[in-house]
Amino acid sequence: MTADGATNGAAYKYVTYEELDGGTIVRIMLNRPKQRNAQNRGLLVELGDAFMRAEADDDVRVVILGGAGTMFSSGHDMGSSDSREEMAPGPNQHPSATSHGGTREGAEKLMLQEWHYYFENTRRWRNLRKITIASVHGPVFAAGLMLMWACDLIVAAEGTTFADVVGTRLGMCGLEYFAHPWEFGPRKAKELLLTGDSIDAEEAHHLGMVSKIFPADELDESTVALARRIATMPTMAALLIKESVNQSVDNMGFYNALNACFTIHELNHSHWAQVHENKYPVALPEDGVADWRTSPPVLPALKDRAEAPNPAG
Ligand code: ZN
Repeated sequence: MTADGATNGAAYKYVTYEELDGGTIVRIMLNRPKQRNAQNRGLLVELGDAFMRAEADDDVRVVILGGAGTMFSSGHDMGSSDSREEMAPGPNQHPSATSHGGTREGAEKLMLQEWHYYFENTRRWRNLRKITIASVHGPVFAAGLMLMWACDLIVAAEGTTFADVVGTRLGMCGLEYFAHPWEFGPRKAKELLLTGDSIDAEEAHHLGMVSKIFPADELDESTVALARRIATMPTMAALLIKESVNQSVDNMGFYNALNACFTIHELNHSHWAQVHENKYPVALPEDGVADWRTSPPVLPALKDRAEAPNPAG
């Protein structure tokens, strides 16, 4: 086991790793269906390990990332028993809770932990030397977007919706990996973060974020068929296509904007930690946000909503 608890290919607890087509395609599935694939530390470390395993394997050309169960991912784990135990002292504490900034004080601790496990890991996956396809379904909330955005292509099942509710429910300015303006467009990013509303697969397709929409019961098979087409391409050409696009957006400011917005995100956490006696680093209902456990449903952004209730209650 490495310093941050990665298992280097041993059996995973929170993800599955499957080789298809003689190992040219790898399918990684988030596998906490009961917790709606909420991302606890153990899952993120295992996911990082799985991506690096695919990265190291020269037979692998395309990596598919999906989620088992009813939805791709509900976002960061905000307090399941797994999540609480792995961050607190005790037999189930995750090794990464006391490394990578975990023993530091104040804003430094959260900044370093989030940099390693929410920001730099996502950016590393975005820069994988393989072609990656996110295959998503159900509601994709908040940090579920980050995982999906790290991939080169996104395909969705009919009925998939996308929302970042951290503004309206946690008083946060978006995610650690702030790709929102690049994925939604600047105005749509503001609207979706200021309202917590969702867009559906059709609108996401219209925006260019989603490449293809498949019937829900054909999602897995159709994603593999797309992966298979891409896997036939010479690996050098595929990588240089990816890298040309990535370097183009990096030169348009994507890389620097991500860094800047990560810092702003940490300022937002510091604000709430200073406001609260218990140093809780996101907004609470008394700060004027909806309680995330009992929040009203996420509403579609595009529908006629003249009669819609105020999401803040
Ligand atoms: Zn954060």
